[in-house]
Amino acid sequence: NIPLITIDGPSGSGKGTIATLIANHLGYHLLDSGAIYRVLALAAKKHALSMDDTLALADLAKKLDVVFSVDALKNNQLILLEGEDVTQTIRTEQVGANASKIAAQPMVREALLARQRAFLTLPGLVADGRDMGTVVFPNAQLKFFLTASAEERAKRRYMQLKAAGENVKLESLIDEIKARDERDTNRAIAPLKPAADAIILDSTATSIEQVLDSVLKEVAK
Ligand code: C5P
Repeated sequence: NIPLITIDGPSGSGKGTIATLIANHLGYHLLDSGAIYRVLALAAKKHALSMDDTLALADLAKKLDVVFSVDALKNNQLILLEGEDVTQTIRTEQVGANASKIAAQPMVREALLARQRAFLTLPGLVADGRDMGTVVFPNAQLKFFLTASAEERAKRRYMQLKAAGENVKLESLIDEIKARDERDTNRAIAPLKPAADAIILDSTATSIEQVLDSVLKEVAK
């Protein structure tokens, strides 16, 4: 039984940060499943596919040449699409919106299942996404669901994007986050919701450090 922790939640809930910290802390592998959907969205654009062309998208998903590695010098996540460094380019709001569109298509999700499950190897895995605890790894021993208000999450995204040099407006980010939540929550397949056995942590009024502390306490139990 390979140790496995799932961390699900909406965009900007802090789950990516928490998942990375926990994986580093425990020395486990990290699955950033959102990055896979983002890379697929970017690849679709590169190959001039329509975000509605389910058959072509599912086919591309199966063949997708993506490599996740760690930058040896900076110890940062490094993502290569067809050999090209896309670590930064997949983080834009546009790519996120397209990722959310293709993620609503059952054949696309199905095509990515095996690729995600292949991350579960020793010494263990921290899996971050929307459906890690519900669909991809329903048997995980420890599941978390991170939430925060849309306004607070938009504020965090705003700080991140500003720091990355993107020119964004907070008001439009709040609207985009709400639209993405709406699509991720109401889609027919793998909707965003906590697993029945997930521990729910709301970080609207608590810092990432406090959330990390709660997660580590549960891990140590
Ligand atoms: O987490 P992130 O914002 O990078 O994810 C981008 C999009 O990919 C999400 O809005 C969601 O629609 C989709 N996604 C998903 N299932 C996952 C991870 C991400 O549907 N496990």
